[in-house]
Amino acid sequence: MNKIIVLIGAPGAGKGTQARLLQERLGVPQISTGDIFREMKNADTPLAKEVQTIMSAGKLISDDLTYKIVRERTAREDCRETYILDGYPRTGVQAEQLEELAREQNKEIKAILIDIPVDNLQKRMTGRRSCSVCGEIYNIYFKPPKNDNVCDFHPDTELTHRADDYEEKVKVRLATYEEMTKPLLDYYEKTNRLTKVDGTGEVEEIYKELAKIV
Ligand code: AMP
Repeated sequence: MNKIIVLIGAPGAGKGTQARLLQERLGVPQISTGDIFREMKNADTPLAKEVQTIMSAGKLISDDLTYKIVRERTAREDCRETYILDGYPRTGVQAEQLEELAREQNKEIKAILIDIPVDNLQKRMTGRRSCSVCGEIYNIYFKPPKNDNVCDFHPDTELTHRADDYEEKVKVRLATYEEMTKPLLDYYEKTNRLTKVDGTGEVEEIYKELAKIV
């Protein structure tokens, strides 16, 4: 049966990096609600402005809008078989909405936790930089680009520091994760759909573990 792979992990756990690798190497499409919202917020519409305000505060967009976006995106042809969700669901309501979607799409849900101790996360986020052209993710502490603040593959492009990766916002996001998203682990565990992967090792090691599951 085709699957919906749900990647769960605190912000900064490496979900985005891994989802991108899985897509590149296994050809399984990854849908990142964070990426969709980041793209959306640049538009000049009242909705885009609202999204921008919520995101830059490090808070969550409403469940209904998020569900609508996930529904629309996963209705496309590339999601006919197995696909990966990065950053969705993040609340109990979203998890319920996803059950409905999985039924409609006739897919089974498999959740994977990328497990990282909380004290590692702060630097992972505040140090994060990304290329706006290819999406490559760097970290000034752990995985710096070859040259200061420019992408290895697009040397003319300065790296982006996400507005919500500054320290104050990071605190809000971590608290939101603890409160809203962590309870989902219980939910998927009780229904035998949760696998845990140690997220503290090398990117390649973690990838191997995930690829086995996907
Ligand atoms: P991320 O890149 O996954 O850390 O997401 C960045 C931001 O996008 C979050 O802090 C939220 O403001 C918004 N966002 C992403 N996914 C969701 C979601 N499933 N529900 C609500 N808001 C979301």
